[in-house]
Amino acid sequence: MEGCIFCAIVAGQAPSHPIAEDDAALAFMDLFPASEGHALVIPKAHAENVFEIEDACVRAVAGLARRVAVAMRSVLAPDGMAVYQANGRAAGQTVFHYHVHLIPRNEGSPLTFHGRGRADDERLAELATAYAAKL
Ligand code: 5GP
Ligand code: ZN
Repeated sequence: MEGCIFCAIVAGQAPSHPIAEDDAALAFMDLFPASEGHALVIPKAHAENVFEIEDACVRAVAGLARRVAVAMRSVLAPDGMAVYQANGRAAGQTVFHYHVHLIPRNEGSPLTFHGRGRADDERLAELATAYAAKL
């Protein structure tokens, strides 16, 4: 969709640090991570939210998200992982292309779904490569 940053990433028209993909879904690193290692999984076909996305795309995103979560856990060994998906501004959605967040969580760190700063590209590339190697 015109003007959608995640569609631009799918099309290779905007930079990203991809982790994995299949026919219908793509996983890549979040540029403004809520915690180190935060990744996103999206459908390749544009859909704004859970109310509009097709079941088959939800299944593709969920399957890839699960596989990437397992890879993330083996790389980072966090205490836990938040798997989160926002629909609408009131729910905290800021990018209006359906996406599932994979946010590594550690005991005692503040529970937040949004990061403050832009991550370092070198570190994102390193993490994406490490995750991909565990898939
Ligand atoms: P939401 O707030 O809609 O649930 O999540 C949007 C997510 O997309 C946020 O975690 C934000 O950091 C991330 N994000 C926003 N713009 C970009 C971008 O250009 N590239 C990447 N990789 N992530 C982005
Ligand atoms: Zn889109």
